[in-house]
Amino acid sequence: MTERLGPADLPRAAALLRAGELVAFPTETVYGLGADATNGQAVAAVFAAKGRPSFNPLICHYPDAEAAWRDVAPDARAERLAARFWPGPLSLVLPRRPGCGVDLLAGAGLETLAVRVPAHPLALGLLRAVGRPVAAPSANRSGQVSPTTAEHVLEGLSGRIAAVLDGGACPVGVESTVLDLSGREARILRPGGVTAEAIAAEIGPLGRAPDPAAGPAHLRSPGMLQSHYAPELPLRLGAREAGPEEALLAFGPEAPAAPLAWNLSERGDLAEAASRLFSGLRWLDAEGRARGLRRIAAMPVPERGLGVAINDRLRRAAAPRG
Ligand code: AMP
Ligand code: MG
Repeated sequence: MTERLGPADLPRAAALLRAGELVAFPTETVYGLGADATNGQAVAAVFAAKGRPSFNPLICHYPDAEAAWRDVAPDARAERLAARFWPGPLSLVLPRRPGCGVDLLAGAGLETLAVRVPAHPLALGLLRAVGRPVAAPSANRSGQVSPTTAEHVLEGLSGRIAAVLDGGACPVGVESTVLDLSGREARILRPGGVTAEAIAAEIGPLGRAPDPAAGPAHLRSPGMLQSHYAPELPLRLGAREAGPEEALLAFGPEAPAAPLAWNLSERGDLAEAASRLFSGLRWLDAEGRARGLRRIAAMPVPERGLGVAINDRLRRAAAPRG
């Protein structure tokens, strides 16, 4: 059952998050579906609860800029925008720091991370009490509209998450503006609560936004993001075993032995597999190249639940590159 909590239950909500459970909470934009961003299984559970068919990067939430800057490296533009708009509906995409504790799955394997400090007293209280970054997409099932009340959250996610922290209706009602600061030109990836004009007034002209003909940035597949991680070694799908020049991305208890192997989940658990996918690809890629291997052979993963998103990601990594 999904617990319905009030402002007085904030410590309970924080304890659930720290224990790896999912808790929806109000922000000034929409209700977020929160998970401990440093816990890969909790992050995998977010994708499962939302029923997302692919992994897209989640925004990480912090109680203040200082906490955010421990995970990403700000430049002068980021510091200026944070001083002007945080707490508030602006998410900044910045390079991850080397020691960043946010699980790779939360950032969909990217080298960058979207971070934000929400302007909502309950959200800030919760983030302070959790003491860890909280990854939170909108608290709705995939394909449904973003929720602005606790009732909306329960309509979509009742029974699928541990709790919802009820803070009444969200004042803004549209999502945060997502601004990419990882390149020389600042670009809006998703329009939202802070306008392009207000941003430009702080940091000067913005780069051209991604082509609207391709659809709104938040609906576009993250596989189209230029910086999306793909291993350098080619990937062979549906493998039963690894050849002599191959590293093995294994799944399940019956994986064959291979000199270089990473099992996504020995017990065949799809949430565990999702949480180990990006770290496994990176490790096999680096280690395989160091050992002179030529390919990664990936065993089949069942096409159900989180397996759908895992296979989507593997197919992208295996697709011919232009
Ligand atoms: P939601 O979690 O539903 O608010 O959507 C978050 C959106 O932010 C995603 O759909 C992405 O388009 C965008 N986003 C989050 N992190 C990144 C990132 N590292 N790089 C580019 N876009 C991002
Ligand atoms: Mg959403």
